Amino acid sequence: MKLLLTTSQGIEDLAKAEVEGLLSPLGVQFRVEERPLGVEGRVLAEVGEAFYTDEKGRKRELSVSTYLNERSRLLHRVIVEIASERFEGIGEDEPERALKRIEDFVASLPVERHVKVSETFAVRSFRKGEHRITSVDIAKTVGKAIFDRLSRFGTPKVNLDHPAVIFRAELVGDVFFLGIDTTGDSSLHKRPWRVYDHPAHLKASIANALIELAKPDGGSFIDPFCGSGTIPIELALRGYGGRIIGLEKYRKHLNGAKMNALSAGVLERIEFILGDATRLSEYVESVDFAVSNFPYGLKIGRKSMIPKLYMDFFSELSKVLEKRGVFITTEKKAIEKAITENGFEIKHHRLIGHGGLMVHTYVIE
Ligand code: SAM
Repeated sequence: MKLLLTTSQGIEDLAKAEVEGLLSPLGVQFRVEERPLGVEGRVLAEVGEAFYTDEKGRKRELSVSTYLNERSRLLHRVIVEIASERFEGIGEDEPERALKRIEDFVASLPVERHVKVSETFAVRSFRKGEHRITSVDIAKTVGKAIFDRLSRFGTPKVNLDHPAVIFRAELVGDVFFLGIDTTGDSSLHKRPWRVYDHPAHLKASIANALIELAKPDGGSFIDPFCGSGTIPIELALRGYGGRIIGLEKYRKHLNGAKMNALSAGVLERIEFILGDATRLSEYVESVDFAVSNFPYGLKIGRKSMIPKLYMDFFSELSKVLEKRGVFITTEKKAIEKAITENGFEIKHHRLIGHGGLMVHTYVIE
């Protein structure tokens, strides 16, 4: 079985490592590839049949897709791949020709192996890149091709709102994927614990990627701009044994973070402090790891304040940080200046896709 796994652009390597770590104990044959056919934000896992022994000692097949949906912290979707194809030049094709190529391809696929004619289905589509067709065109065309094919076996049933089976059709550049979306309509990064919605909250998948980059070893950990608490909550949910602190300047967000932590069942694991990150040393004497997504000045506050805010924060951080920091921001110039002028060294840099932007991520020591 081939599983097409989606995640944020720029963290495919970390998602691959997570999937390998989850599949290894199953004793199943597998191969995981980052960015299949060069497509960003995607990981492909080819997995053999997996089994477990139930309470009565019987050998049962394990659904690897369900297992990944339940355990992964970095993935957004788990899609059972039906087929993938590169359509050279589809970006320049006239709309009718582009859609005909997709329709003919889907019509040739044995979709009846993946859905019973008695089950309701819907097609959800995704499109990225330069094309003369829209994602709505793709959904309609793929839906029609599947409907026509299933009509050979009975009367297919479409239910766009509450389908039993969701087909996912993706056109990314000139690569087309069709699969069964086992995750459902809500992406895995939308955590059920989020009861307070911060206007600039970080995707939980990216929060976990930052935690992976920080490699916390059980030492104390702070998010000095914790907003609604995504990073500390996700760390606590991983069963982290060390001290976890969330600092936030605004009471409204701090209360929201506490509500989220309560909903996640980890409120007692996190010390939430109302305070100003540019006075960090007043709240903590020393801390091993600091991980945060900074205010960018896009959604919150004024952009002109950013360079001074970053400079003052890193000056304070230099008094307390013992091991490693991981920070994400759009403000490349301001953060690099603040990092280097306060005696830190950039150990790693990467771009991560978040909220339609490619955001700079730094590991510093
Ligand atoms: N990671 C958070 C989440 O997922 O909800 C979002 C963080 S948001 C990008 C940045 C946060 O920093 C905002 O909640 C803002 O109120 C807070 N903030 C701004 N200036 C601050 C300061 N000087 N000290 C502490 N927090 C500050």
